Amino acid sequence: MDPRAQQVLAARLQYYRDLGIYDLYRRDVATVSITAPSEPAPSLSRGTAEDMFAPPKPEAAVADHAKALRLIQEDLGECTRCVLSRLGRKTIVFGEGDPNAELMFVGEGPGADEDEQGRPFVGRAGQLLNKMIEAMGLKREQVYIANVVKCRPPGNRTPESGEIETCSPFLLRQIAAIQPKAIVALGAVAARCLLGLNEPMAKLRGRWFDFRGTRLAVTYHPAFLLRDPRQKKETWKDLQMVMEFLGLKPRRAPE
Ligand code: URA
Repeated sequence: MDPRAQQVLAARLQYYRDLGIYDLYRRDVATVSITAPSEPAPSLSRGTAEDMFAPPKPEAAVADHAKALRLIQEDLGECTRCVLSRLGRKTIVFGEGDPNAELMFVGEGPGADEDEQGRPFVGRAGQLLNKMIEAMGLKREQVYIANVVKCRPPGNRTPESGEIETCSPFLLRQIAAIQPKAIVALGAVAARCLLGLNEPMAKLRGRWFDFRGTRLAVTYHPAFLLRDPRQKKETWKDLQMVMEFLGLKPRRAPE
């Protein structure tokens, strides 16, 4: 059985055990099909049958956003669900910011600085993200920042689909807890994870998507902008679109 299906099944069995159900009957396997999607990572943008039948989450009935986030973080624990926990990770970077934020940024995964400090976007890309946030007329503390994966991929490689599939349900739960008005996906990995679209960035940015009833915009990742500053102009257009939607006053473009 493939690892994803195994994980889903293990969670389901644990759920039944928690309910005190230990005896299960096995149906003819030919009638039961549990398959796991392969590349690209499935979209999180719509609920799935898996979501529908999943055991209720500890934060499900919690209205307080900060408390819901704490419960999610507790559930994440000292996570060893994927290989990233065994590939040199120092710290799990859960995410940070205002639990009631109207705007949420989603990046790819922690780098070395983030791994060291346990906080998202604190390195060079983070400095640029801070400037982008400030240019929007906001303070970093007023938004919420998280990543698709919460552990640093070795050598800052792109997270693999299995890692994304394992970790992204926690991101989804963070989004559900915060209930932002808008989400900005930073870069192709975040966009693909959230939207399940394999389009190039040029086709994804500059427009709105629907993410489970929340507006989602895609823009360039700040690390990419450090390598190709010419794209800052386009990024600023994307951020202005978001600002207009959130009713934020126009500002000067970030340097
Ligand atoms: N890049 C990301 O995608 N996330 C971080 O937290 C830092 C750099």
